Amino acid sequence: GLANRALLLDRLDHAIELANRAREPDAGRLAVLYVDLDRFKRVNDSLGHGVGDLLLCRVAERLGASVRRCDTVGRLGGDEFLVVLERVADRDEAAMVAQRLLDGLSSLREVGEHRVHLTASIGIAVHPLQGNGESPDSTGLMRMADSAMQAAKTAGGDRFVFYTRDMTDRAETRLRLESGLREAVAARAFELVYQPKIEAASGRLTGFEALIRWRHEGAAISPADFIPVAEDTGLIIEIGRWVLEEACRTATRWALDHGPVPVAVNVSARQLADPGFARLVEQVLQRHGTPPHLLELEITETVIMKDVRHHLPTLNRLRALGVRIAIDDFGTGYSSLAYLRQLPVDVLKIDRSFVNDLPHAPDIASTVIALAQRLLLSTVAEGVETAEQRHWLAEAGCDCLQGFLISRPLAAEAAEAMVMT
Ligand code: C2E
Ligand code: CA
Ligand code: CA
Repeated sequence: GLANRALLLDRLDHAIELANRAREPDAGRLAVLYVDLDRFKRVNDSLGHGVGDLLLCRVAERLGASVRRCDTVGRLGGDEFLVVLERVADRDEAAMVAQRLLDGLSSLREVGEHRVHLTASIGIAVHPLQGNGESPDSTGLMRMADSAMQAAKTAGGDRFVFYTRDMTDRAETRLRLESGLREAVAARAFELVYQPKIEAASGRLTGFEALIRWRHEGAAISPADFIPVAEDTGLIIEIGRWVLEEACRTATRWALDHGPVPVAVNVSARQLADPGFARLVEQVLQRHGTPPHLLELEITETVIMKDVRHHLPTLNRLRALGVRIAIDDFGTGYSSLAYLRQLPVDVLKIDRSFVNDLPHAPDIASTVIALAQRLLLSTVAEGVETAEQRHWLAEAGCDCLQGFLISRPLAAEAAEAMVMT
């Protein structure tokens, strides 16, 4: 029958107890299947009011029909279900049931007068675990099945995946990172480093890109590792605000002490999508007395192009403030020429991977430079590491260069020393 969460956990606890007490090792094996519908929200939205609940009932029925009498199917909430298989002989038997569950779901073709196409991601945890002597409780077993379900989802859904130990390791690393990040946000434990950009033709300093650094448990964690976590958790909003404040404060100080030098700041997807973003930028500029043309915002091509229509008003508002806008990692995504012409942008940053191909495979770099010249945009090549690359880029008419050849990212004081000379 269909059990609720409490009943399900009871049942599971009981089964685990029996399994642990079983004399013959195979007698008490049980499997927990964590079932999560794929894209349920989308399906639900397309069905219209009230149909979602009916659909979930039908799903529960299908799942129930795919298991044996002695098994239990329960709804955990939302579109998540748990199936407890008692006395399974081995992994193969659990796999067979999982496949039956998937087949059962795909045979559900309509709800009321609506046509549906349903798939699910299923994670399987088997108890007792062969080999290692762990004996998790019901919560532990459910968590394992959940991790395996996430893995099934990541692999594209519509499949089942067995739990493995490294899934827990990964989840733990991720959790540690997440809580460390929360503390770091509260304690403002970040730092900005500044990587210079120079004019290709003259070698003159034209500005800096501000890059965030975080020291956690004695190690420097790469933004490539923690920015995605910050994005997922929403912490990026607060981190991004701090980066913006810090970069503007620095740009203003340098401008007053030495003369104007633009500073570029990376903007993530979530920040750009935040309806208050343009207003935030305006407030920060005002608060620090920063001339708007000294602030450049770098937004990756993928982020802009994924939802151009939605981002356009924000980009226009930012541009109207006098802020410069650069498309980062240009060439890696898909930009249509038509869109690019409409976008209020000033700079294309040629992605490092294409600079890396120079001088032997120059097609993309050439194309981006030609495109920028047609559209009256300026170009920055990122990740310039060799003298040959620098030479090729200068010859090809690329405006600015950035990369380890010119300089690594520098602490604020070292960057300031460059401004002075
Ligand atoms: P990005 O915006 O493409 O930044 C350039 C990255 O390339 C930086 O890595 C920089 O240190 C590195 N780099 C510069 N020159 C060279 C070179 O010649 N060779 C090689 N191999 N690498 C070079 P970093 O600082 O680790 O940042 C990685 C990414 O993290 C950045 O890629 C950016 O997407 C993100 N990020 C960094 N700081 C922030 C931030 O404050 N906010 C947000 N939202 N994202 C940030
Ligand atoms: Ca960047
Ligand atoms: Ca980049």
